[in-house]
Amino acid sequence: MYERISAIDPEVGDALNLELKRQESHIELIASENFVAAEVLDAAGSVLTNKYAEGYPGRRYYGGCQFVDVAEELARDRIKQIYGAEHANVQAHSGSQANMAVYLALLNHGDKIMGMDLSHGGHLTHGHPLNFSGLSFDVITYEVERDSEIINYDALAEKARKHRPKMIIAGASAYSRTIDFERFAAIAKEVGALLMVDMAHIAGLVAAGLHPSPVPHADVVTSTTHKTLRGPRGGFILCKEQYAAAIDRALFPGVQGGPLMHIIAAKAIAFGLALKPEFKAYQLKVIENAKYLAASFEKRGFRIISGGTDNHLMLVDTFVKGKTGRTVEKRLDKVGITVNKNTIPFDQNKPMVASGIRVGTPAVTTRGMGLSEMDQITEWIDQAISVEKDDPELQNILTQVEQLTAKFPIYG
Ligand code: PLP
Repeated sequence: MYERISAIDPEVGDALNLELKRQESHIELIASENFVAAEVLDAAGSVLTNKYAEGYPGRRYYGGCQFVDVAEELARDRIKQIYGAEHANVQAHSGSQANMAVYLALLNHGDKIMGMDLSHGGHLTHGHPLNFSGLSFDVITYEVERDSEIINYDALAEKARKHRPKMIIAGASAYSRTIDFERFAAIAKEVGALLMVDMAHIAGLVAAGLHPSPVPHADVVTSTTHKTLRGPRGGFILCKEQYAAAIDRALFPGVQGGPLMHIIAAKAIAFGLALKPEFKAYQLKVIENAKYLAASFEKRGFRIISGGTDNHLMLVDTFVKGKTGRTVEKRLDKVGITVNKNTIPFDQNKPMVASGIRVGTPAVTTRGMGLSEMDQITEWIDQAISVEKDDPELQNILTQVEQLTAKFPIYG
């Protein structure tokens, strides 16, 4: 593949081909990754990349926007239809920029915000001290409860009453349980806070009606498009009509210049696919596979944080088996299984070491893998971490992983 690129630039051509081969031959368990449809890939590599289109459909600062306008209108209409939203902005280059635009629209520098602690499952943009959110705002964090490893809404409400933040942020990067958005909204209302929900991870499940929707409850909802929603890398914002003008203005010209029209066309295609019945069937399998994967880990002596999963991901405590997340991530790399190390709540190890891994099923489910593959994968993981780092058994597992992945081609 990529012959045209390789002919003029073999170095980049090689990188592309090797990455394609890596994706094809590895088992992808990173919870935030997925494989887009070939048509989404086509749009992302289309001539729309050539076009400047600052502004919004019908109100651009450049000529020649009549066709990119069509793409953006389609993306906006489809995402509003999926989630029943009053207003949508599909221009955010990423999830982080979607969040940045919301803060710019609705907060002032130094305001108090309340988000989930990163080490308990939150995201950097929810108030981490090194992120623009933590640098710009006065951050109060909430955590999961020590025993249950689940959000304790009573404790959260108590904290909100005490600190009275201007905005509460719900949503997470590493939380495997259903989030009670209705309860979040009640707490926000009680303390006079705005509620922003960042549904980046669960957007596909929400679209399929398999996780309660935040849209009726939140003032603003942000998301990425490239995780469970299976779109191109990017973001979007949904909001009530009353915030529409402020959100649009904050995104452009507030935090971005020209929108990525090729990516917006790819988003339109992905959103169109998410409206089809097959998408719900896919999301059902994602959850089914995740539950089975969690049970298969537990069967082999790993501990699943909070005792299970309601969504597409789980945090696996590997330290109960004497291995840090860093060791497991590196070891699995040797056998063609890709995961990321992750801290677990109240972790005794530093983030770069971590006591666990985060794994998810969106990507393997897109390839068509099912329950027997989930069981087999945990068996290989268990075997791989149980032997020494140069044990010949690792090569044997790698060969089996390659044989399995060859049966589930990604792009035909
Ligand atoms: N919000 C959540 C909950 C996420 O998990 C992520 C990405 O992992 C983001 C926002 C940021 O998205 P991006 O990487 O596109 O900036």
